[in-house]
Amino acid sequence: MEKFDVVIVGAGPAGSAAGMLLAQAGMNVLMVERGQAPGSKNVSGGLVYSQLAAQIFPEFWNSAPVERAITTHQLAMLSENGSVSLDFRSQHGAQPPYNAFSVLRARFDPWLAKQAEDAGATLITGVTVDSLLVENGRVIGIQAGPDQIGADVVVVAEGTRSLLLKQAGMREDFHPHDVSLGVKEIISLPEKTIEERFQCTPNTGMAYTLVGHTAGIEGGGFLYTNKDSLSLGIVVKIDSLYKSKKQPHQVLDEFKSHPLVTRLVEGGEVVEYSAQTVHRGGFHLMSKLYGEGYVVAGSAARLLLNNIMTLRGMDFAMISAEAAARAVLSAREQGAYTAAALSAYETNLKQTSIYHDWQTFKATYPLLENKRLFEVYPELAFNVMEDLFSATTRPGPKALAAAREEMKGKVSMIDLAKDMYQISRGIAL
Ligand SMILES: Cc1cc2nc3c(=O)[nH]c(=O)nc-3n(C[C@H](O)[C@H](O)[C@H](O)COP(=O)(O)OP(=O)(O)OC[C@H]3O[C@@H](n4cnc5c(N)ncnc54)[C@H](O)[C@@H]3O)c2cc1C
Repeated sequence: MEKFDVVIVGAGPAGSAAGMLLAQAGMNVLMVERGQAPGSKNVSGGLVYSQLAAQIFPEFWNSAPVERAITTHQLAMLSENGSVSLDFRSQHGAQPPYNAFSVLRARFDPWLAKQAEDAGATLITGVTVDSLLVENGRVIGIQAGPDQIGADVVVVAEGTRSLLLKQAGMREDFHPHDVSLGVKEIISLPEKTIEERFQCTPNTGMAYTLVGHTAGIEGGGFLYTNKDSLSLGIVVKIDSLYKSKKQPHQVLDEFKSHPLVTRLVEGGEVVEYSAQTVHRGGFHLMSKLYGEGYVVAGSAARLLLNNIMTLRGMDFAMISAEAAARAVLSAREQGAYTAAALSAYETNLKQTSIYHDWQTFKATYPLLENKRLFEVYPELAFNVMEDLFSATTRPGPKALAAAREEMKGKVSMIDLAKDMYQISRGIAL
């Protein structure tokens, strides 16, 4: 059986980061990717938070195919007839070390994998790993079609579905409650139109987080500006979607019919459509990170943060891969890739900022399933704003009186107090 020091399953942000770091340390690394090219199974648009990513890929923005530096973030609540937004603009985001870049995975992931190859890792694409080879409770390699490839240690970076881990009995079943479905479109639009419509320069861009108008299903939407396209999508809870009996594309179409979204994508042409599951993320959901002869990095270990303002998975994947790679290297020094030696991964991870961010926002998760947040409050905020911004022939109320009037029959004072407490625990206090 052919053998490598390390076999890595998956060439996403986690796999390529681990591959590069381990190859740089002189290990003989094989990366196996089922897509014909890295990123081809990951067609999503997304935001890469640059300061974290730059810890692994220093100043990546100088050579990586990034789309736009995001300098404007808008959080918009969508009601039936309009929207209420919070608009955040920062010039810091336009210069190094930046805050976030929009990227297209079909372009970005091959660049990540190339960094691993340049460091000496071998990448094979178009090959699916069918199973982990396990002997006496220890992972000793992988099976891909008829081929068995041995490894001192396997890095499982297979992404969100983590079927190999499930098949090997190395993770529990996921509860539908903890999984969402992301449905995305890439919509092409001329660069000039994007710059005029989103008030940005040739290199900067805008990101929207959109709450409401997802057919009553808990979740939200996003819109990111790329160079000459938009990434538009929704992320909705799978159990609610199932109960609604609606097809994912129907929910996306309904979302796109909102006046704000319609205006933002007007004149664009859908060039890609994809759907992918995404974990709700969360501190309480962390999977087993290591065992005899293996470590798990990135979203295969459910490492993801969604605090409403940001959805972070790629930087979590890279930073966790670095923590895992350091554990692998210290296990190499000890001469054995035992679970005890690889447990340093968890210790390393606990020292990272992502782990602390995760802990800080652990109370955000109940918010993501609070229906009133998606259905009632956007409408309420819109109606109160409409009262305040309008002059009509009847005398108008002050904000609090307008809110009280709007709340009648929709949300009780007790619910409101509970929700305020939940919001403040989740993202404020
Ligand atoms: C709709 C949506 C929007 C998102 N938006 C953002 C965002 O804006 N910012 C952000 O940071 N994150 C975002 N995320 C999350 C982010 O995509 C993931 O957290 C991130 O890609 C995880 O990286 P990874 O390397 O762990 O896994 P992945 O990127 O999923 O990579 C896993 C790789 O393994 C390969 N693979 C899987 N199984 C096998 C096998 N058996 N054999 C060989 N290869 C295999 C896959 O083809 C894939 O290339 C979003 C997710 C979704 C669904």
